[in-house]
Amino acid sequence: MVIILHPGTDKDTAERVIDKVKKLGFTPHPIYGVINTVIAVIGDRTQEAMEALEAMPGVDRVVPILRPYKLAGREVKPEKSVITLPNGVEMGGRTVGVIAGPCAVESREQFLETAGYVKQAGAQVLRGFIYKARTSPHDFQGVRDEGIQLLREARELTGMPLITEILDTRDVEKLHDVVDLFQIGARNMQNYALLTEVGLSDRPVVLKRGLSATIDDLLKAAEYILVGGNQQVMLCERGIRTFETQTRNTLDISAVPVLQRYTHLPVLVDPSHAGGHDWLVPALSKAAIAAGADGLIIETHPDPEHAMVDGAQSLTPEGFKELMGQLPAFAYAAGRTM
Ligand code: PEP
Ligand code: MN
Repeated sequence: MVIILHPGTDKDTAERVIDKVKKLGFTPHPIYGVINTVIAVIGDRTQEAMEALEAMPGVDRVVPILRPYKLAGREVKPEKSVITLPNGVEMGGRTVGVIAGPCAVESREQFLETAGYVKQAGAQVLRGFIYKARTSPHDFQGVRDEGIQLLREARELTGMPLITEILDTRDVEKLHDVVDLFQIGARNMQNYALLTEVGLSDRPVVLKRGLSATIDDLLKAAEYILVGGNQQVMLCERGIRTFETQTRNTLDISAVPVLQRYTHLPVLVDPSHAGGHDWLVPALSKAAIAAGADGLIIETHPDPEHAMVDGAQSLTPEGFKELMGQLPAFAYAAGRTM
């Protein structure tokens, strides 16, 4: 059920409702919106509990949550969630945000050079991946812990929020003070231990759609993070497996408006992993913005030909700069800014 408080209900009154929920044997999940505060309550609902809560001061109404994604759904929070990053950048607001960087951190020279030009071109968040989730164990697994110091350096040098992919529950604590956001990649979308662990963290999380996951699977995976208390979750469509072979994956562009309809969480698109070719990235980025994406994740490399991972889909510094110059017009056309 979801308990909707009257607009402007003070904190003490809200706390009393939260205490009552606990006394009734449920776990409350308060969601603070701009207009309304709501308390989502997961568990078997009983008519008596709903009535007891509805009678409390501050409570406007109590309604059942019908959809399976109880905390991610618009039922509990009709307005969009905006996630504010340490540099003041808002994801999920009016501005379309860009997360950019190499697929993998390879060397100091490569990473710092990339950090410099993505910042200059206007990206808001820097990608710095030191652990790589590869389909084959024989492929490059990332520079791993050797790269931690480099992440610190790039973050300090650029002042940009930094995102990294984590593969292990132990990475959450280890990298808490090194990065600003965590990514859970497509291959780990249903790694419930990892989802649960980031759910207890105060770091925003980008959760990518699994290779063969439905939109509902993605939303239910997000629930694992939200239920732990971490409400700073962004979802990312990154292409799914289909019979098509011209592209690395098939960008499910419909996922953007579908997600925007059913969830309040920001929706990102990764055109790089969807298309798999650098020449596809501009068209897919523009399509994503037109479809209503809140942000993009774009791979770029100073020398794509010699990249250790995903060179074919990585934009050159010039290509990245050119695309960043083209995107604002599409953002404006979609009623957004950039
Ligand atoms: C990545 O972002 O580098 C990545 C591995 O993406 P995905 O998990 O979508 O394959
Ligand atoms: Mn990649």
